[in-house]
Amino acid sequence: MTETRLRFPPSPTGYLHIGGARTALYNWLFAKQNGGRLILRIEDTDSERSSQESIQGILDSLEWLGIDFDEGPYFQSDFTQEHAAAAETLLAKGFAYKCFCTKDELDSKREAALAAKKPLGYDRSCRNLSAAEIAEKETAGIPYVVRFKVPERTGVIGYDDKILGRIESDYREIDDFVIVRSNGKPLYLLCNVVDDIRDRITHIIRGQDHMTNSIKQLLLYEALQAPLPVFAHMPLTLDTKKAKISKRSHGEIVSVQFYRDHGFIPWALNNFLVLLGWSDGDDKEIFTKEELIERFSLERINKSSSIFNYRKNDPKFFTDPKAISINEHYLRTMEIEELGKMVKTELENEGLWNDSYENEKKKWYLNTLDLIRGRFHTLKDFTSLGRAYFDNNFVIEEKPLKKNILKHEGLREWLPVIANRYEQLDHYNLTETERIAREYADELGIKPGIIINGMRTVVTGQLAGPSMFDILIAVGRDRVVSRLRNTAELYAGRSN
Ligand code: GLU
Repeated sequence: MTETRLRFPPSPTGYLHIGGARTALYNWLFAKQNGGRLILRIEDTDSERSSQESIQGILDSLEWLGIDFDEGPYFQSDFTQEHAAAAETLLAKGFAYKCFCTKDELDSKREAALAAKKPLGYDRSCRNLSAAEIAEKETAGIPYVVRFKVPERTGVIGYDDKILGRIESDYREIDDFVIVRSNGKPLYLLCNVVDDIRDRITHIIRGQDHMTNSIKQLLLYEALQAPLPVFAHMPLTLDTKKAKISKRSHGEIVSVQFYRDHGFIPWALNNFLVLLGWSDGDDKEIFTKEELIERFSLERINKSSSIFNYRKNDPKFFTDPKAISINEHYLRTMEIEELGKMVKTELENEGLWNDSYENEKKKWYLNTLDLIRGRFHTLKDFTSLGRAYFDNNFVIEEKPLKKNILKHEGLREWLPVIANRYEQLDHYNLTETERIAREYADELGIKPGIIINGMRTVVTGQLAGPSMFDILIAVGRDRVVSRLRNTAELYAGRSN
């Protein structure tokens, strides 16, 4: 049986973006599902636009996503001789020809065709040059490109696209396309096929923007006498204005690195990406890796484009609300030990990591993460919204400051009293901390909420969060006492 072989061939001309990552993911899922092999090929023959930095960025992004490869990375630029040899073979066997038309000639032919409302393709005038004519032009040093000789057949050429169904094109509508530039460099269209043949690729899953290439490439496969792969052209990812998502027009906000840097969980991003163009046939949106490998199918990929609702100017979230909600799901439900490792990286980046969190304070660390994750959206929230649990230097947000502190002048004296009482407790625990807060509110004849909300603000800087007494235990007596004692500082220079 033929081995199932797929490839992901990015051009290293920028970072890996959402659309590219989705292509990689679909290929990866299909390979895994079918016991196949996935090959990574860096299509770096465009030396002017390719860069080492992009290559590294793409490799890092794929690794971060957990999309692993069975072979590669191979570099297209290592096979330039093979590409040139294939062009020679096509020329030698009469499947291609040298075209000496200059750019000016081609332009004026094009204009004439436009005026006469005739097809705009190349008029094939060099297609039947005699050997003597060719030799004469070559001797005269006239530059030439190599064009593929599209067979003069009537009828159609086509393939069964796994997503779109039968795709066909009339032979007469296919231009004699260029396969080698006048500088002797074979074009992408040819290199890509030569590489796919050498790598024995059986399935090509790529974007619909490659469909016109695919028709031409069918002809190349035929001429090079290679078996045809299965094609599956995926819907494009568009923004909300229906423009294609691209690195050039959307900037880094559509890059995988951006998601990593904004606290996404890798699998959550994969889970979001898979839904950009595929569904399981019902409303199910959360899939484990194993489930997806089992359930994914090319047939259920949408035929039409998907909308990626990224939000450049939204002050709250930077991306598609669905992406955020999937990230939240994983963040709030994943194995706490696993989350612990991810948050460790965040804390390290902020200089807040302490090795005791993996040793004597491990239980405290994991319990605290579990306590606070219920309202968090991304991993970044642990060091921003949740900073007070790991550091004394945290921000007291404006809203709770006004509402819960400045409005109640009395708190500047009341909270230090609570601090004293907590300090003297024999048992600093949930029941005792709560008892003290409520008894003191009674003594003062005020609502316990005033004390409790005040404490929440002073201890965490936040308006909302877990139960106040759970917070007091998690933050710990010493820190709680000193923060409550410093309440008066919050009024400095402020009025309600
Ligand atoms: N290098 C091409 C790209 O990044 C690959 C296209 C293909 O899958 O054949 O668009």
